[in-house]
Amino acid sequence: MTQPVKRFIAGAVCPKCSTMDTVRAFELDGQLYRECVSCDFSDEMDAQQGVDNELPTRVNQSDKLVFDEGEQVVKLIN
Ligand SMILES: [Zn+2]
Repeated sequence: MTQPVKRFIAGAVCPKCSTMDTVRAFELDGQLYRECVSCDFSDEMDAQQGVDNELPTRVNQSDKLVFDEGEQVVKLIN
């Protein structure tokens, strides 16, 4: 029974629920996937990108979308 190692991507924002630091990446059968732990978002990643060190995710901090509907951070960490 092999469980993929799932690693959170620092600074990554979920494209679905726009929550930061809820996206984690893992490899399954040679294919890279990412998933959000806050909503049900999941996606395949291009293996060429790599997920280990050099994700350019810390760039958009200042001009990211801001939703002023109040905090709606729901964490479903299991
Ligand atoms: Zn999400």
